[in-house]
Amino acid sequence: MKNQRNITFTISLLFVLTLFSCNGDKVTKKDITIIPEPAVIEYGNGYFKIDDKTLVIADTNNPEIFKLANTLIERLNSAADLDIKIKKQSKNINQIILELLENEDLGEEGYHLLVQNNIVRLQANKAAGLFYGIQTIFQLLPVDIFSYQKVNNIEWHIPCVEITDKPRFSWRGMHLDVSRHFFPPEFIKKYIDIIALHKMNIFHWHLTDDNGWRIEINKYPGLTDISAWRVDREDKHWKEREPQKEDEKATYGGFYTQEEIREIVEYAGSKYVRVLPEIEMPGHTSEVFAAYPEYSCTGKIFTVRPGSYWPNSEIFCAGNDSVFVFLEGILSEVINLFPFEYIHIGGDEADKTRWKACPKCQSRINKENLKDEDELQSYFIKRIEKYLTSRNKKLIGWDEILEGGLASDATVMSWRGLDGGIAAAKLGHDVIMCPGTHCYFDHYQADPESQPLAIGGYTNLKKVYSFNPIPKSLNKDEEAYVLGGQANVWTEYIPDPEHIEYMALPRMTALAEVLWTPENKRNWRNFRKRLIIQYERFDRLGINYYNSKQ
Ligand SMILES: [Zn+2]
Repeated sequence: MKNQRNITFTISLLFVLTLFSCNGDKVTKKDITIIPEPAVIEYGNGYFKIDDKTLVIADTNNPEIFKLANTLIERLNSAADLDIKIKKQSKNINQIILELLENEDLGEEGYHLLVQNNIVRLQANKAAGLFYGIQTIFQLLPVDIFSYQKVNNIEWHIPCVEITDKPRFSWRGMHLDVSRHFFPPEFIKKYIDIIALHKMNIFHWHLTDDNGWRIEINKYPGLTDISAWRVDREDKHWKEREPQKEDEKATYGGFYTQEEIREIVEYAGSKYVRVLPEIEMPGHTSEVFAAYPEYSCTGKIFTVRPGSYWPNSEIFCAGNDSVFVFLEGILSEVINLFPFEYIHIGGDEADKTRWKACPKCQSRINKENLKDEDELQSYFIKRIEKYLTSRNKKLIGWDEILEGGLASDATVMSWRGLDGGIAAAKLGHDVIMCPGTHCYFDHYQADPESQPLAIGGYTNLKKVYSFNPIPKSLNKDEEAYVLGGQANVWTEYIPDPEHIEYMALPRMTALAEVLWTPENKRNWRNFRKRLIIQYERFDRLGINYYNSKQ
């Protein structure tokens, strides 16, 4: 027995030694800057050196894995000026191996990375895990790996580490409002790149609102011929913009064609980012009535507002059945464009003044035995949910959809604090947390005196970093309904792409760590140190950011 025990011990010791049979100096925490911080890192000795003889080994018969192997070598071959090839197998020892391996502990997005002196082995359960492992490899390399130009005279080393990593939450989102200002497709792709760089996985595309409709709908061309355009008042403060005059032409705006949208969705998919489209209803829809006034309660033509529109009282008539035919026609095309299982239908801030005075809306309240206008909104959302369910899609709405009764399978996006999310989780509904206090990146991020004009508020980096999407008032069962969180970037005061980057970064970097890293691994002081290298990455990638320290 004694011998047996010794043998077992020797085998265990050998196993440990194989794990870190690395030669060279001990790798320490300060040698490594990975953001978001991985769940588990162990430090070895020395490094793996990448050179022209290094091979990437991957299953070349699997198109998805082959594509991932290509994303790895493309960056190495361009920035590091190497000539690395992909092979299915090789006896060579100088290898970076990418492989799928059944390991339930890693889940859908986790990975295991072992770096030794002459071999790197990246394993994951699913392709998404390999993608995130590759992002980690890039962050283990010198920062110049992010350069667009070839960088010579650098040794391309990966420090010997063993990382076992997976995200804390499955929903790690970034929203962008393209109605208040329109941004070109090229920038949308860059925004998706930045999302993927942070191991985030949802792009919430706020495509419609009072200041412009942004998605081509073949059945209703007026939405892009008319509702996508407003008069140019960009020289005036958002709140001081006069509506369109009778003799004026609306020339400011734009929209995405269906072809552009398909291309963007596919591009996002290649970076494991899912695209959530949002089509607002019943409120934040006045732009629609510039082209289709018959779907409002009053039937009057309404011009697309060039600035502030509040309260937003021109909303869809809930008593008119043709409104639902119209919306289903739109959603039908949206569903065909976006493969993601969710559709966001807005549901926020609908001023019910018109419903109170509208004979059709009041007749609906009577006929359906509804208590009030809140229940009428609930009727509206439930009717839309029924349609989405028939098309195998799930409905998401802002937390106002709780008022008057929640639709049966709706997911709630909690923006007015955490309370809406808490209420929904207690009712057994899925929840995404994005409270204005921590997740509204249109707020000021520093002293307003030092910043470009913003909508107001104050959400600095440290505050974002302190965010916890799981409120204390939820029990363990209820916590499971919190899918994760996201930040929202409303663009009333953000007219161009560089400004979006400035508002989003580095707050998005902080949020990425909140949503990925285990809570007990989060450390503000250490995050701030790692941020310095993250800024260097942004510089190499040509990304604008606020040089925030707190
Ligand atoms: Zn009405």
